[in-house]
Amino acid sequence: MNLFIKNVTMLQNGEMSPTNIRVVNGKVNEIGRNLQAQNETQIDGKGRMVAPGFVDIHVHLREPGGEQKETIESGTRSAAKGGFTTICAMPNTRPVPDTKENLQLVNGLIEKNALIRVLPYASITIREAGKERTNLQELKENGAFAFTDDGVGIQEAGMMYETMQEAAKIDMAVVAHCEDNSLIYDGVMHDGKRSRELGLKGIPAVAESVHIARDILLAEAAGAHYHVCHVSTKESVRVIRDAKRAGVRVTAEVTPHHLLLTEDDIPADDANYKMNPPLRAKEDWQALHEGLLDGTLDFIATDHAPHTAAEKTNGMNGSMFGIVGFETAFPLLYSKFVKNGTWTLQQLIDWLTIKPSETFNLPYGKLETGQVADLVLLDLEKEQEIQVNTFLSKGRNTPFGGWKCTGWPVMTIFSGEIVWQEEEN
Ligand SMILES: [Zn+2]
Repeated sequence: MNLFIKNVTMLQNGEMSPTNIRVVNGKVNEIGRNLQAQNETQIDGKGRMVAPGFVDIHVHLREPGGEQKETIESGTRSAAKGGFTTICAMPNTRPVPDTKENLQLVNGLIEKNALIRVLPYASITIREAGKERTNLQELKENGAFAFTDDGVGIQEAGMMYETMQEAAKIDMAVVAHCEDNSLIYDGVMHDGKRSRELGLKGIPAVAESVHIARDILLAEAAGAHYHVCHVSTKESVRVIRDAKRAGVRVTAEVTPHHLLLTEDDIPADDANYKMNPPLRAKEDWQALHEGLLDGTLDFIATDHAPHTAAEKTNGMNGSMFGIVGFETAFPLLYSKFVKNGTWTLQQLIDWLTIKPSETFNLPYGKLETGQVADLVLLDLEKEQEIQVNTFLSKGRNTPFGGWKCTGWPVMTIFSGEIVWQEEEN
């Protein structure tokens, strides 16, 4: 299918300008104000903005093994609705992609069921159990995007060091969930004034930052590309900033929910506010914003983490960690930070596209002639409440239900094919 997207606006050097885009054989063939339609499927882009399809480096699709929470089909459909065209799937599935055979199994499921591009992580240790290292070389050869034991921190420094040395040799990134298990104290939310008010056990900020500090020194010694998942504390931001200044090859991501909420926003013992790392204090929130703006934090990733309703209805103590993120990321961030002038639209788009791509040397996330036609059309005027019952994800676990947002994806094109569009009213 060849496409002609007419009368659309796109950002060029920070300015919105009207244009037309021709898509031929899955690639952007021409971009220009004076193009004429030929024999293509025409898409009227009037009142819409076009951006590169979003790239999400940190997502949980749950399949294989957790299909009651999400499947590759439902997860990628949800991602497409959120404007994402490339997502990187975390390996905490059953089986874990920890061997060539298990990774091939995951790859087969992706090939069969994914609507958009899914790049699978492989784990650092067998079953993410932290004891026995996987064969990184073999996993790379079988299509691993990078290595991580996301969901748990690598407890042993020696395990992390050897992984980084090995990864550096084969030019692959080590991606880390940073959490020292000896500092968790059975916590279910941030250890701070709100956990005391609610009478719930808290996870101290230092459980994260001490792990990042350790890993940064290991990455420096090993010469590896070390990427920090979902940074949540001010101390973490500070050590990453210092490490970048010192020339260590460290990159980092921040989630929409950590940019939008703090512990003070947790209204009650409600598991829709239970995620790992937890929502932190106001000073942490402030530091995350500063870190994103000064480049200490490289980009935004959703950490989309669906659970069943039953797994999220037993309060903070009895529920699983995690919230869904694909379908709310852009509208929330646009409404809360671009509309009020905190960020420019270009900054937000960059943090969702070119920044994650460049961090991992992916050829996606840019809208240029000759590039793969992964595109999202956005209606920046559209106003709509977040309604969890309309989610295409199987997960309904979000603290953002009922929030009114302006600016929604209306069509997503992956490799030149329309993979999702809003229903006409
Ligand atoms: Zn995660």
